[in-house]
Amino acid sequence: MDIPESILKSTFGYDTFKPLQREIIANVQARRDTLVIMPTGGGKSLTYQVPALIFDGLTVVVSPLIALMKDQVEQLRALGVSAVFLNSSLSPEEYQSNMDSVKSGQSKLLYVAPETLLTPRIYSLLSSLKLDLLAIDEAHCISEWGHDFRPEYRQLVDVRRKFPSAVCMALTATATPRVRSDIMSSLGFTQSNEFLASFNRENLFIEVTPKQDPVAQTLRFLQNFKDQSGIIYCFSRKQVDDLSATLARYGFSVRSYHAGLEDLDRKRNQEAFIRDDVQIIVATIAFGMGINKPNVRFVIHFDLPKSVESYYQEIGRAGRDGLPSHCLLLYSYGDASKIRYFIDQKEEPERSASLQHLDAMTRYAEGSICRRKPLLSYFGETFVSENCGTCDNCGADQSELADITIPAQKFLSCVKRSGERFGAAHVVDILLGSKNEKIEKYKHHELSTYGIGKELTKSQWMHISRQLVERGLLDQEPAYRVLSVTAKGLEMLKSREQVKGQINEAKKSERSGARGKEFAESDYDKSLFTLLRNKRKELADAAGVPPYVIFSDKTLVEMAAYFPQSQDSLLNISGVGKVKYERYGSAFLAIIKEYCKSNKLDEKYKTPMRSADKDAGRRYVAVGEAYNGGESIQSLMKQYGVSADTILNHLARFIMAGNPLRSAEDLISLSNLSPDQQLAVFKVFDTMGSDMLKPVYDRFNGTVNYDELRILRLCYLCEER
Ligand code: ADP
Ligand code: ZN
Repeated sequence: MDIPESILKSTFGYDTFKPLQREIIANVQARRDTLVIMPTGGGKSLTYQVPALIFDGLTVVVSPLIALMKDQVEQLRALGVSAVFLNSSLSPEEYQSNMDSVKSGQSKLLYVAPETLLTPRIYSLLSSLKLDLLAIDEAHCISEWGHDFRPEYRQLVDVRRKFPSAVCMALTATATPRVRSDIMSSLGFTQSNEFLASFNRENLFIEVTPKQDPVAQTLRFLQNFKDQSGIIYCFSRKQVDDLSATLARYGFSVRSYHAGLEDLDRKRNQEAFIRDDVQIIVATIAFGMGINKPNVRFVIHFDLPKSVESYYQEIGRAGRDGLPSHCLLLYSYGDASKIRYFIDQKEEPERSASLQHLDAMTRYAEGSICRRKPLLSYFGETFVSENCGTCDNCGADQSELADITIPAQKFLSCVKRSGERFGAAHVVDILLGSKNEKIEKYKHHELSTYGIGKELTKSQWMHISRQLVERGLLDQEPAYRVLSVTAKGLEMLKSREQVKGQINEAKKSERSGARGKEFAESDYDKSLFTLLRNKRKELADAAGVPPYVIFSDKTLVEMAAYFPQSQDSLLNISGVGKVKYERYGSAFLAIIKEYCKSNKLDEKYKTPMRSADKDAGRRYVAVGEAYNGGESIQSLMKQYGVSADTILNHLARFIMAGNPLRSAEDLISLSNLSPDQQLAVFKVFDTMGSDMLKPVYDRFNGTVNYDELRILRLCYLCEER
């Protein structure tokens, strides 16, 4: 067995690497500087922790947050790995004893804040040792273009220079190209050492529902998450306090978190949440930075987030452990107007930028295509699957969509007749036959479309207008949101082609409750899980650490699904390594045995987990191997009942996971471009890399479509390896 694999199993208790982890570790082992970009929960820490255990010298991990350092060190110690941190929170005695532990070589990992690393004391400590790896966590802090610039990070360049033989890793979950290139140039990295993981979080169910009676909707939602951890984000402090009080009245275990609370209260509430003493945190966006809690089962947005980026970051706090988790956004057009009002008070250029963010957010919320498409396109990823199966829109049955041809025609002609100079709200006023100053001023009561839309309400019309923008029938100019009819819209008016969509938003929210429940259900014994969780809490409190330091939820879920009753079978559970087995094994085995005996249950043989992650994993390997075995793309499409795109994606994943692929001939025959054009694309891959297709697409001004790019990328990778 390779060393990284055996460390993964014996120390961390995991059977397989997550996507890219193995490749990253190999790159670091080869002492090449490495930039790692992975979404939250992608498993970044392991990519420097495994090399740290392989190298004989010291690994220094730079991390900006004191709380996170402590958390990581606690988790490592629970795995039997000797790690320490040095920062201002330690007493002089603790500080010295941690220094000693590093000096004596006892600790393989040292966590420090950047400003600590720059002190003469640490410099001289490090100079007396062999420093093998310098890992810079939250590396986006080095970039002024990031959302979290920290000047101390700039000086890390000096540290690198002082210790030239240490290999350097930079890790972040921020994927914008600007920040990425900033990190690489600041640290002097080369392009080829960048690892960009997919930002698709398969275990998150993503749902947006019209906000009608938000408190009742929240209470209904929570019924499916008894005793589970979650975060509810609100717009204002007052809203946080109100909702938190309401939930408490209904008997929920809940605390607030916002900038208006005393430091101590905030800290206490956060700690209670992390330690599973409290189930729900109601918070403003101030909450979440520096939270490592892996078992957050739901995130509710009670109000509209200010941008798609922050939304993605906030929902990303759910399901770090990879278990199914639910993200619900309660959306109302009124909320958007409220935020727009606040933004209007700002100065330029901030005002325009904020408006654009808000527009993108409302477009997302009102969208009827797969939620993953717009989310991932933010990271330059094109999500190609027809149906992700885990968002509300993909679950939505086409037949539930109503025929909105007539309203669509009315709306489009009204936009046209009023001269394509107004926003949706005014067009709706015309349709409804409203009497107001603006109508009078432009004499819009004289239009033939005046008052022809009284069968629908204002909010129904607004909803329809968004859908028309989204289908490309209307165009919305970003600055003033003026609507105009596109060529496609004109075509639709002429051909009287049918348009399907939603008139009433109400239907959707009724469906969601039922599906939420179905999604949260898995095949494990809930009562046993509760017993195991109580045990975990008891052990955690005794040791003064958060419960997930002992075992993750995922580990307990597996125990409650397979009922392992021997050392071997317990070690076979994901997350149970040697040290944890020695420390906690007997306590958990005793509970499982006892439970099985009184309920007449037998141990189940553990076949590989059913999680989406691994299913997909097996699928791409199976497709890759079948292709190498001589199967054609066509036959694979038939065999799996999927499109060529899906097969190409599987093959891309297969190849990116480091597997060789047989000749590119079969692939290149799928391309419709001339050999010259193909060559031009390959050249662009040479200079711009092939991780992201969007920049390449832009480079050709959209003349080479994504299908072509995907095919050619695969050929390119195939040749390159
Ligand atoms: P990130 O820092 O990228 O947000 P973490 O390093 O905190 O992610 O990892 C997220 C979770 O996934 C942790 O609970 C971690 O133990 C778990 N994890 C990491 N690698 C693996 C793996 N190969 N198999 C199973 N679980 C893993
Ligand atoms: Zn979807």
